[in-house]
Amino acid sequence: MRRTLLLICVFLFGILTADAQKIQSPSEFLGYKLGDQFTPHYRVVEYFNYLSSVSKDVMSLQTYGKTYENRPLLVAFVSSPQNISRLEEIRKNNLRLAGIEGGAAQTSQPAIVWLSYNVHGNESVSTEASLQTLFDLVDPGNSRTKAWLQNTVVAIDPCLNPDGRERYVNFYNPVKSIQPDPMPLSREHMEPWPGGRANHYYFDLNRDWAWQTQLESQQRTALYNQWLPQVHVDFHEQGINEPYYFAPAAEPFHQDITKWQREFQTIIGKNNARYFDEKGWMYFTRERFDLLYPSYGDTYPTYNGSVGMTYEQGGSGRAGLAVINEEGDTLTLKDRIDHHYTTGLSTVEATSQNADKAIAEFKSYFATSKSNPAGEYKAYVIKGKDNPEKLKALATMLKGNGIEFGYGAAKGASGFNYFTGKNESFTVDKTDMVISAYQPKSVMLKVLFEPTTFVSDSATYDITAWAMPYAYGLQAYATREALKPQSQTLATAPVESKTTGRPVAYVANWNSVADVKFLAELLKKNVKVRYSEIPFESGGKRFNAGSLIIARTSNEGLNGNFDQTIAEIAGKSGIILQTVSSAFVDKGADLGSDKIRYIKKPKVGLIMGDNVSSLSAGQIWHYFEQQINYPLTLLRPQDVGRMNWTDFDVLIFADGDYEDFGSEKMQSWIRGGGKLIAMESAVAQLAGKKGFSLKTKTEEKKDEKNKNPYENLKTYENRERDYLTNSIPGAIYKVNLDNSHPLAFGYPNFYYTLKLDDRVFSYMEGGWNVGVLKKNNYVTGFAGQATKKKLVDGLLFGVEEMGRGSVVYLTDDVLFRSFWENGKLMFSNAVFMVGH
Ligand SMILES: [Zn+2]
Repeated sequence: MRRTLLLICVFLFGILTADAQKIQSPSEFLGYKLGDQFTPHYRVVEYFNYLSSVSKDVMSLQTYGKTYENRPLLVAFVSSPQNISRLEEIRKNNLRLAGIEGGAAQTSQPAIVWLSYNVHGNESVSTEASLQTLFDLVDPGNSRTKAWLQNTVVAIDPCLNPDGRERYVNFYNPVKSIQPDPMPLSREHMEPWPGGRANHYYFDLNRDWAWQTQLESQQRTALYNQWLPQVHVDFHEQGINEPYYFAPAAEPFHQDITKWQREFQTIIGKNNARYFDEKGWMYFTRERFDLLYPSYGDTYPTYNGSVGMTYEQGGSGRAGLAVINEEGDTLTLKDRIDHHYTTGLSTVEATSQNADKAIAEFKSYFATSKSNPAGEYKAYVIKGKDNPEKLKALATMLKGNGIEFGYGAAKGASGFNYFTGKNESFTVDKTDMVISAYQPKSVMLKVLFEPTTFVSDSATYDITAWAMPYAYGLQAYATREALKPQSQTLATAPVESKTTGRPVAYVANWNSVADVKFLAELLKKNVKVRYSEIPFESGGKRFNAGSLIIARTSNEGLNGNFDQTIAEIAGKSGIILQTVSSAFVDKGADLGSDKIRYIKKPKVGLIMGDNVSSLSAGQIWHYFEQQINYPLTLLRPQDVGRMNWTDFDVLIFADGDYEDFGSEKMQSWIRGGGKLIAMESAVAQLAGKKGFSLKTKTEEKKDEKNKNPYENLKTYENRERDYLTNSIPGAIYKVNLDNSHPLAFGYPNFYYTLKLDDRVFSYMEGGWNVGVLKKNNYVTGFAGQATKKKLVDGLLFGVEEMGRGSVVYLTDDVLFRSFWENGKLMFSNAVFMVGH
């Protein structure tokens, strides 16, 4: 009897599912079983388009942008037909709940789960898993997901980094054996430089959410901020010997992460654990992946009111279709897909089960942000008068994060001065940016501006200091009292576009990337440009050392279009130009003096390839192409020895290991007028080398008497902690600058550097010590005790003259992730200003 009933049930179920529209699974659509091979991006796009065309009632597909290599970026929204038909209303209502969109919010609405896949291109399982996950969500025959979607909207971005992923897939397919070879050393498991992790310019997109320096991040965060989901998952992979990692995350948690954000991580984590336990799959939680640095795919959503999480499968670029791990088990792509697919659906389920609570907590998160912002500081004032272009760059970043700001205030104030480290009174000028903490995005604001980030546990995954005034080199105050900006727009001085008479020269101050872009454009157009080695005054205007001088007399080649050409280029670069009516200046050197130096248009080469840090070289490449738009030749390390050196005026060696570095051939090129720029570990390689003045700093001998006799006795379980005394994951130090040297033109006599290692060199005898650390130059961020002792009295940035050429030493990463805005000028000085 029971059996008959069962048969009838199966029969009925069959009729019901046959009635519903049958849609193709990923395997049916692609023509191979999911996991049998890697799916190229265009096929992923085709499948998403296909599902969208056959599931219009439950799915809405949006193309939100394209990559540097022109591949489309997509997000699919999936929910019940009722929710999909009013998707835009749900989005707007969600922003109303956050206080970002005007109007009264309905308190009852679906929760939003955002699933982001494959931000690291070679963690290639994620996109495959997204196909199966999307199918299960839209499949009319799947009653479980149908139930969840009644109160939940799911956004699926199948690939945040298609360029990187294609680099991986296109590496793998041509080299794989006909039967996947699981031997970990076979070449299908060994990606060539630079690997598929990063995007086109070798940026790690999972470090770029807040800074938005990359095209992919800019377009994605713009869309993300129009939605602000309650839950966000960033899918990753870790090493092939690791099991699976999911939330709850590890300490340190940022102190402003709420109780609910912690709780909900645990609720979701336990739901994932339930499925993994059923299958006997291994996992770990609460270790390694912390929540601090604000630019990740878990922290960024977290600081924007979401429960942001990272999920990590064992695998990555090493894993291929199958690989043997150290325990002798074979890990296959199919296993990896299963795991990511399981946690994806489990997360949707857990959110659906807690949807009302998630919405209520989301609403209260933003209400608190607006009415009672966390932390001691209630407003920030950024001085902008001397640095309008840098202030503009900061404004762009803030806008990208939906942070409200304005200019000026009705009264003066007192507050913490980031540059002196003291509390001081100050006036607020019309040109000062004023940011009130009483706003929906106050947590993100606080994280970006807090002078010191509280770190509950220093074993963090990333840098521990990033306060914006240091990164942008902008003087700023944090105040305990509330301040309201007076105006939404910046009152700017009128630009001198029309000039009376015929100025003998145009002058532009030199202190920002906009100025560098202007110079680059002038040089490309073969305009002759000079700079002043010392400050000067003319017609009541004061110009810094390094100011660009474009004289009429040298530029007759512009065919009488001199004034128009210069004005056009300045306008395009966003530069405010000044005019000088006589070469006879009021103070400083006359324009015909030899203190006015001609800037030769340099032919620049950058070495990139094996043993060079792709991140370091990539950010230089991006800087030239996307920020200042100046030609750069990319050279492979193996071609350096046989190239024609005289083809180049400037050669840049990024962080990396170089063969024959500092060779006699290289030195003779420098002596003949070449300029070598060495960065980070490349600097260390030149130290002590014959022909170079740079020397490694010898460590001071320990005082034997005061030495602790038990110093070497350490407990095994504390090994990770002990390691920290020698560590510096990224802290901020103040560098004393000699700003009369071209390497430091445009800076005050100090610079805030992000110190990522303990490298520091002896003061040079035969060179210019332009940027040095003295005692007590530590500012903020975690630096271990041993490291702190080392980072005193030494050289970080210097220039050595060699014959007619020069060597520039940049020990720290002045372009770090391209968000360390203030270092870009020093790098540009090295390229354009040093050595004339
Ligand atoms: Zn990853």
